[in-house]
Amino acid sequence: MPQSDFGTPEYCPNCHKASAYIPRFQAIVLPEYANFAEAYYDAVNGLYFFDEINRIGLRIVSCLSCSQSVVLLDLFKDGKPVGFNQVIPREEAKKLDTVAPDLVADFFNEAEKSRRAGALRAAAVMYRGCIEAIINDLLKSVGNFNANIKKFEEAEDILTDELRKRIVDYANDIRLTGNRSVHQGTVFTEAELSDISSIIEEVVLHAYVQPAQRKAMRDSRAAKHSSGS
Ligand SMILES: [Zn+2]
Repeated sequence: MPQSDFGTPEYCPNCHKASAYIPRFQAIVLPEYANFAEAYYDAVNGLYFFDEINRIGLRIVSCLSCSQSVVLLDLFKDGKPVGFNQVIPREEAKKLDTVAPDLVADFFNEAEKSRRAGALRAAAVMYRGCIEAIINDLLKSVGNFNANIKKFEEAEDILTDELRKRIVDYANDIRLTGNRSVHQGTVFTEAELSDISSIIEEVVLHAYVQPAQRKAMRDSRAAKHSSGS
């Protein structure tokens, strides 16, 4: 079975580059220990036969950019290759810093999980929900997303002008992204969604993580002053 029938990760999970791979090892690993209940016995030849149409292959490939290995399980359905699961390195869905509001973190978490599972349309909708939750939270106002983006753009007391403008650009992009995926059924590429994911992380860093760090430093200085040290 040529490895191209199963595919490889679009981005190397080790160096995160859009790389190509050299095959290093390939074998069918299941059914090696087959379930005898599902086997049928050929009395003439005294042999058991097993259903091999849903077997699993093991494949190791090396990235051409970083030379590190990726271990994949190749999946068959009804005797045909249907794709792979990445086993090593283990894929962990990204999570936001715990200071992010719960709703923002929940949307992000679901988006990341959907993206890892290849459900790209679902991921786009969840990323959109995430950005909307961020803007609602910072504005302290839950309303029409489009109207809130405009309101946010003019909210001079929130963040700096430059950062606010960048978030608004991102918000408009992601609003269109979400609308497109819901209403027109567009499937987004992994690269586009990966970009949106980094944008959200950056927004959360500036809007929640850094202010929380500054507050912690202020509190610790205030505690020192009040204790007289
Ligand atoms: Zn690599």
